[in-house]
This record gives sequence, structure tokens and C-alpha cells, in this order.
Amino acid sequence: MKSEPLCIDCEKRLGHLESQELISHEAKQLLEHPERVIQAELPLSRDDGTLEMLKAFRIQHSTKRGPAKGGIRFHQEVDPSEVAALAFVMSLKTALLDLPYGGGKGGVQFNPKEYSKTEIEQVARLYMRAFSDVLGPHKDVPAPDVNTTPEIMGWMRDEYAKITGADEPAIITGKSVAEGGSEGRGTATAMGAYFILKERFADQEPESVSVAIQGFGNAGSILAKLLHKDGFMVVAVSDSRGATYNKAGLDIDAVSKHKSGGNKISEFTDGESISNQELLALDVDLLVPAALGDAITTQNATDVKASVIIEVANGPVTTGAEQVLDDQGVEIIPDLLANAGGVTVSYFEWFQNVHEEKWTEDEVNQKLQGMIADSYHLTKQAAQKHKVRLRDAAYKIAIERILN
Ligand code: GLU
Repeated sequence: MKSEPLCIDCEKRLGHLESQELISHEAKQLLEHPERVIQAELPLSRDDGTLEMLKAFRIQHSTKRGPAKGGIRFHQEVDPSEVAALAFVMSLKTALLDLPYGGGKGGVQFNPKEYSKTEIEQVARLYMRAFSDVLGPHKDVPAPDVNTTPEIMGWMRDEYAKITGADEPAIITGKSVAEGGSEGRGTATAMGAYFILKERFADQEPESVSVAIQGFGNAGSILAKLLHKDGFMVVAVSDSRGATYNKAGLDIDAVSKHKSGGNKISEFTDGESISNQELLALDVDLLVPAALGDAITTQNATDVKASVIIEVANGPVTTGAEQVLDDQGVEIIPDLLANAGGVTVSYFEWFQNVHEEKWTEDEVNQKLQGMIADSYHLTKQAAQKHKVRLRDAAYKIAIERILN
């Protein structure tokens, strides 16, 4: 019987590439299916003594170029088709950056904001127990993703050591520096996007570029700081509860302080409170969706007034919305390039662990900048050559590397 693709989004994106004659039908068939889908039920004992079963997944999209690589997310909306789509993007991301990896992704379907720290530690350890057979420094190497932190990576590493009897730091990346992580990993996703933006806006004064950032998590908040420090005019930032807007530019350090004091971003005193939807529709030069997937859909794409979008989140622009934005002349710097800084420094971390080396933050950032800037220019040249969008060009480069 013909197997139906688990990931509808992968099928759509690959179908679009096939219709542009950028890839063959066989390439589409091969890539729309992950190599392996593993599902588990994690028995969590809640602090109140009750038992709760949580659905957990690990999907290995491709191991053709090396061990599967990709994060684990803790979120209530995690489901197999979303994890498969994210695993697919990881295969493309590692190939585009020419890292010796394939692609994978994992997730646990629960909202960690409603659980205590000891419960979250338990989930991390249960996850590692459930999937330790299919993971390994040379098989599949997880990392952080939405709502998973260096501390969680540390618990997983420790659990893996307990199960296997061998302490191998390269089993997981995104660990804290004290636990064998790399300098620069915490800031890597934002740094990668920042280095691309330096190239993209090289011929413009930063002061003349207005920016709106959706999402003030690890990537969004660090990118906001980097851009602000460089003189870019960051006029709006948001978290899941709302946004703050100041046409004359926000003082990002002050917003950060306000937020870390437990306050809502939308209540920042030196800005006007607006909704997340209003932020996406601001008349800015650069829009940065840095929160979750599907932020820009066919419902709100026509409201977008920015001329450039950089996808710091994974999958923030749906395939339908991309068509609308393309017709409006909006340039999209796609996720597999825009947020590849994270996995690139994960590779540096893994390499340092395997070879027992320690690199400085400057070394890490310098190497990252070189690799990200090269990938950006390679993608741009391919887009110009084939007269296609940056995403299509990046996919073509990555897919050729995976299949050859
Ligand atoms: N979760 C990040 C991503 O989507 C990082 C993955 C990694 O470092 O392996 O790229």
C-alpha cells in the first residue's frame, strides 16, 4: 500500500519545488517521509501523587549525512506531524550549513508552565529512558528547542550516563558551559540571525532600519539586544501576552529589565501597548517572527507591511502565506538559514566534546559568522541564478547535498 506522508507541510513545500523543476519527483517522494518515527508514553508522577501519561516523540527524518540532529520541545501542541515537519527542516538546515549531520526532532506534549521544576526534571529523565536506544553521539544527538533549557539538557545527559554506564557529553548539545556545553551556544541562534542581517543590510545605516520582533524568548530577546546595540531601530517587541511599541525606538535593555522583573511586556512604560497581531502589521523595514510556528498565515499575510521577514522561529510563515507575501514583494529569509546558528554551535559543542577541546566565545562566534555568511551568500546567488525565492534556493542546495 502507498504510504501517506506524515508531514503535510513537507509534502506541500516539496511539491512546490517539484513544480518549479528544482527537484525531481523521486526526491520529493524520498524526503516527504521521515526514516523513523518513535512514540512513547511517559508515566509522570505529579507532586500531588497522581499519575499522568504524557505523549512523547522522536522522529529521525534523515541520517544520510550523519547522526540525526535536532532539538526536543516541551509544548502542549506537540504532535507527530509537527515534529516530522521540524525534523525535515533540521535535515535541510544541517545540509545547508554543510554540517556532518542528518535531521531529527523530538517533543513531549505538555505545557511545562503548569508543572513544577521537579516534575520537569522527571519528564526530561523519562524522555531519555524512553528513547535512549535510538539516541547516541553517533546516532542521534538532541538539543534544546521551545521551552527546553541547558539545565534540562544536563538532566538528560546525566540520565543517559546512568542508563549506559558511560558518561558521554556528546550525547546531547545545548548543555550549560559548566556541564560540558560550548561558549556561545546560548546566544548562537540570535547571533546567526544577526550575522545574516549584517550582510543583508550592509549597505544601509542601521539607524534607518526599523525592526519589529515577535517573541522575547532566548532568540528574540538576544537578537533585540544585538540589533539595538548596533543602532538598528527596534520599534516593537512582544511576548505571548502582548507587545510594546515606540515609533522612536525602544530601549531594549530597559524592556529586558522590565520583563525580568516579572512584568508584562505590554505594560512597558516607555511604549504603547499593542497586540501581537498589530505588531505583525506594523509598517517596518524588518519583521522578525521569533516565537512559534504559523504566526503568519493566509489570514494575516495581507496585513504585513514589512519589506523583509527573517524567520528566527521554525516555520512562522505558512506555505499559503508565503505565496501571498511573495505577490506583495516581501523578501523572506527562511528558517533553515535564519536560525541555523543554533545547530551550528551545537555542532561546535559536539566536536569539542568528542575531541576534548575547549574553544573561546570569540573563536565560536568567528567560526559561526564565517559559516553563516557563506551559506547566506551561497543561497542568495542560487536564488538569483534560478530566479527563485531564497527558501527555494536553500532547499535546492540542501536537497542536492542530502541526495548526492
Ligand atoms: N532547536 C534548534 C533548531 O531548531 C537547535 C537544534 C540543535 O542544536 O540541534 O535548530
